[in-house]
Amino acid sequence: MGFLEKLFKFFFRVAKNNVAEKFKGSMENVQPPAQEILDKELEQIKIKDERKAECPNCHKILPKIPGAKTKCQYCGEFMFVRTRPNHVRLVVSKDEADKIDEEWSAINETFNNDVDKISLNRQLATHSVNGDWGLYRNDRSSLAGILAKEMRTEASLQTYLEVCYLDLNEPNNLGGIDNPELLKKHPPFSPNFDSLSSSLAPGILDLVRRITLKLNLSKNRIKQIFIEHNTVVEKNLRLPLSAEKAWQVLEKEL
Ligand SMILES: [Zn+2]
Repeated sequence: MGFLEKLFKFFFRVAKNNVAEKFKGSMENVQPPAQEILDKELEQIKIKDERKAECPNCHKILPKIPGAKTKCQYCGEFMFVRTRPNHVRLVVSKDEADKIDEEWSAINETFNNDVDKISLNRQLATHSVNGDWGLYRNDRSSLAGILAKEMRTEASLQTYLEVCYLDLNEPNNLGGIDNPELLKKHPPFSPNFDSLSSSLAPGILDLVRRITLKLNLSKNRIKQIFIEHNTVVEKNLRLPLSAEKAWQVLEKEL
């Protein structure tokens, strides 16, 4: 079994044993559903051996089926044994072997991202239940990073814009406080109305600038994404600073 295959099996096992049954998505942005991928993998897990006693380079008939990397006695080229992501085992040329390795590599990355997203999803749920809004904000920022890695650039931008909006509302960590008297002294969000822009994180602003440049978005389009997405956030989290007012502050920083 190749290294990538082992890695994949490892992540598959981790995901299957620890995560799958606990995956109950509560966060809208988590896609694709890991459960679906796992089910598909379970269906296909049986390896079909389609190796033939034939050189993939010169196509001469070999005395026996290669079990691993072997030099062809006729053309002198190397032959490789690989299992494709669809679990078909083949004898292939160097180029084909490289291509299959890349396919596995992409699958492993998707799997890593999915496992990360599932654990993030659980953290987000815990942090919102406990009113740990500073930590919740960090989780959203991590998610934006994963979305960027997945090349879901616009979804990533949307989430970074949400992080900006949360920052402008100055999220606090309540650690599970739900006593109304205590909550008056320790509100979940306490925007600094005297100097709103000072709450923005330079690193996040920089990412927003870079993504909007990459996507070639006009200020109007950024505003549209910001307002559409964050009006929902405002309502859900009952944020003291409105999305409209937050945009006026953010706009000057972009
Ligand atoms: Zn050959």
